[in-house]
Amino acid sequence: TTTSDQAGSTGEDASKVFNPKEGAEKFTFQAEVNRLMDIIIHSLYSNKEIFLRELISNAADALDKIRFLSLTDKKQLGDQSELEIRIKVDHANRLLTIQDTGVGMTKDDLVKNLGTIAKSGTSAFLEQMQKSNDMNLIGQFGVGFYSVYLVADYVEVVSKHNDDKQWLWESNADGNFAVSEDTDGEPLGRGTLIKIHIKEDASEFLEEAKLKDLVAKYSEFINFPIYLYSSKE
Ligand code: ADP
Ligand code: MG
Repeated sequence: TTTSDQAGSTGEDASKVFNPKEGAEKFTFQAEVNRLMDIIIHSLYSNKEIFLRELISNAADALDKIRFLSLTDKKQLGDQSELEIRIKVDHANRLLTIQDTGVGMTKDDLVKNLGTIAKSGTSAFLEQMQKSNDMNLIGQFGVGFYSVYLVADYVEVVSKHNDDKQWLWESNADGNFAVSEDTDGEPLGRGTLIKIHIKEDASEFLEEAKLKDLVAKYSEFINFPIYLYSSKE
């Protein structure tokens, strides 16, 4: 056994306890996703900032989708016609949030998209990732979302799709995730809100100057406005 295996099985490196809302439906990640998350969590990769590029690109994809749908069906936009990305820092709670007014995800989308990898060649990809320790491969292979665990010890994804209610997906990347109807959170109208609980050694991603630089860097090819907000302490 490797040290990371031991740490994983005793849960001593899972700094946030998986404690989903009562009544939440619990799922286990597909084996390949588990392996990928394990690589990400134990990675010594220093270029952690790429997670923001991946999440911004996912937000832009979701915005593209709703914009496309609205071309033939104006009603799809509802009263949420502003197509944009909002990034917020909440220092007190060590939270970084990324919200988009894109197409959103149904409950089934959340379970499928954020729990499984459909692509073939996954094993070969994981082998290559482990060997090269190059997280840049992650976006190319279409599993960019999971890079959020380079900086997070707990992630919540709130999503509202036009065809469904508002759902909450949550995981500490320790093998399980939970999905429950989001009755407590602010109604999104439509889109996705990703709440990133920033881990101890990634505090730089709560700094405004750092985020400003990164947003400038990654927004170059994004065709939607990105707003950066910060909570006053
Ligand atoms: P990729 O973007 O290459 O498909 P990711 O791992 O980045 O791979 O994302 C997986 C899937 O999760 C996406 O294809 C999309 O269906 C869904 N997803 C992720 N983020 C969002 C979002 N902000 N809004 C809607 N769907 C999303
Ligand atoms: Mg992506």
